[in-house]
Amino acid sequence: MSTHDTSLKHLNTFSLEAQASQVITATRSEHLTEAWHLAQKNHQPLLLIGEGSNVLFLENFAGIVAVNRLKGIEITQNDSEWLLHVGAGENWHQLVCHTLDNNIAGLENLALIPGCVGSAPIQNIGAYGIELQSLCDYVDLLNLDSGEVLRLSAIDCLFGYRESIFKHAYRKGFAIIAVGLRLAKQWQPKLTYGDLTRLDAATVTPRQIFESVCAMRRSKLPDPAKTGNAGSFYKNPIVDAKRVNALLAEYPNMPLYPQPDGNVKLAAGWLVENAGLKGFKMGGAAVHQQQALVLINQDNATSQDVVSLARHVRNTVGEKFAVWLEPEVRFISAQGEVNAVEALS
Ligand code: NAP
Repeated sequence: MSTHDTSLKHLNTFSLEAQASQVITATRSEHLTEAWHLAQKNHQPLLLIGEGSNVLFLENFAGIVAVNRLKGIEITQNDSEWLLHVGAGENWHQLVCHTLDNNIAGLENLALIPGCVGSAPIQNIGAYGIELQSLCDYVDLLNLDSGEVLRLSAIDCLFGYRESIFKHAYRKGFAIIAVGLRLAKQWQPKLTYGDLTRLDAATVTPRQIFESVCAMRRSKLPDPAKTGNAGSFYKNPIVDAKRVNALLAEYPNMPLYPQPDGNVKLAAGWLVENAGLKGFKMGGAAVHQQQALVLINQDNATSQDVVSLARHVRNTVGEKFAVWLEPEVRFISAQGEVNAVEALS
């Protein structure tokens, strides 16, 4: 375990300035339990982070931040599947590249998603038609108090749209230390989104899908290494048929994605853009020009700038479309995570 500088600026992809009382880097699971016990002893909160790619620090954090850097990729196989056991602190995109370099397909649609492998199950990351839940075998969870490791099967993770049990029952006092993935050897390309629909399912290779996803993401999404951001700021709203019909009467070109349960997913980015907010700026924060679902730290934004902008976007979209966007990004106050919708209300 190493302790360092208490600035969180380089530990959140929004690149917002905030301080913690202490920052430690955990390279072994004991470092995480030690950090937990130290925080308990000091009556301080403990915050576990991977690469800080889905957090918004609202203010300084009054406790210990533990950066999960538990590494290791083990690959085994059975007749029909590749079985991966991956340390939570591995970088997600590097894992995608590592599997493709080893001729293992299945993760290519999820290329270039920022963050760590251990963060992936928390919000059930998804892109271009594939969600982690369809590939997840298990999640190893460390009980920080007892040091015991629980293995949760994918079913027990209660995955949903950007949802899992790790945001609820296992939010506090537990750390994800490894993730098990199962990738079928009989590969089926998933070509339902964007430019992928132009590829030929009969001849396409995993590498071509990877390249296409990387090209789409690079053309629309800001690189957090250059422009601070936390990816999609809001979840895509799911609304009922009655609401959709009312919206369609007024906005016949609105994109709609019907869900198996009869409800309909709307594109949050479309709503923000059609509320006239693309490029809209507040202080140093702005709505991204190429993808309105992303809020960016354009010019030394403060947390308050991002919160004010996020509230303005939510209110403007809500007043125009009667659809109230919920943040996907997790809001972190001095004592830990707070309800993001309440923070914007
Ligand atoms: P897009 O093509 O502009 O489409 C907007 C939204 O419509 C997407 O968010 C997607 O919902 C939905 N959509 C598009 N095609 C669809 C289809 N064939 N079937 C069902 N739903 C469809 O999207 P984008 O912003 O460039 O993002 C492309 C993909 O990357 C999406 O899957 C998106 O979720 C993912 N992404 C995630 C983040 C993040 O931070 N979480 C950031 C950027 C992109 P879904 O989001 O439900 O898939």
